[in-house]
Amino acid sequence: MIILKLGGSVITRKDSATPLLDHENLSRIAKEISDSSYDELIIVHGAGSFGHPYAKEYSIGEKIETEEELQKKKLGFCITQNSVKNLNSLVCENLREHGILAVSIQPSSFVVTKNKRIYHANLDLIKKYLDLGFVPVLYGDTVLDLDESIKMAILSGDQIINYLGEKLKPNRVILGSDVDGIYDKNPKKYPDAELVQVVTSSEDLESTEGTGTVDVTGGMGGKLKELLSLAEIGIESQILNAGHDNLVKKAINGEKGIGTLIKSKK
Ligand code: ADP
Repeated sequence: MIILKLGGSVITRKDSATPLLDHENLSRIAKEISDSSYDELIIVHGAGSFGHPYAKEYSIGEKIETEEELQKKKLGFCITQNSVKNLNSLVCENLREHGILAVSIQPSSFVVTKNKRIYHANLDLIKKYLDLGFVPVLYGDTVLDLDESIKMAILSGDQIINYLGEKLKPNRVILGSDVDGIYDKNPKKYPDAELVQVVTSSEDLESTEGTGTVDVTGGMGGKLKELLSLAEIGIESQILNAGHDNLVKKAINGEKGIGTLIKSKK
């Protein structure tokens, strides 16, 4: 089994203030997936510009102090949920046009978080789809949260990867982003940043004491935490640039040495 994540930075124009698809990347990647060989495949995609602008505007996941705030956040929840569902629909349609039997799985319909971490999610249906040869497609979504002070949360595609990895024990986890892998510092800010081929523990990362060697911020920081906790239970993952031709295909086909490998120290 392979779990493949397509970053919001790859399939959408992430910096757009309104939802904008990167159609070129999406259809190229769909073709690469259809040209590669796998037995069981689950796809998880990020929200990019279909989710972040709304999640930010309505600050979903932050403390709710008044009835008015609750009403506003509920409206934001509906808007965000619908927008990411639209993106998922475009992704599934594109995959199907390339011959992939993509089925949409809406996280907000079966996942509940507690203090922003997945508390409950029944994966039986996903297993059933896999048994039948479908490719389940999940995505970053808004979900209900059991913590009364926030009531709602944003569930990232990266946290979904962590949960599915832990429960389903895939042979491989591949993450396609808009950078070549993990660098010693943000490559978008520092042109002299260097790619790190293997990350084995959070000790490799820059801490406040300045002991580590890698400074990871923003989206990549959260991603790496999720992946390191998978590595601890023996599940390796690979971060690569899905914006470059054929890397997703090569990785699905088992080619090693592309991007950054995240694995356990042992
Ligand atoms: P995605 O949408 O693909 O899941 P994110 O946009 O959330 O990915 O995170 C990827 C971004 O993280 C990169 O575009 C990069 O600007 C940023 N980043 C910050 N620090 C690093 C680092 N040390 N190595 C690689 N990327 C980094």
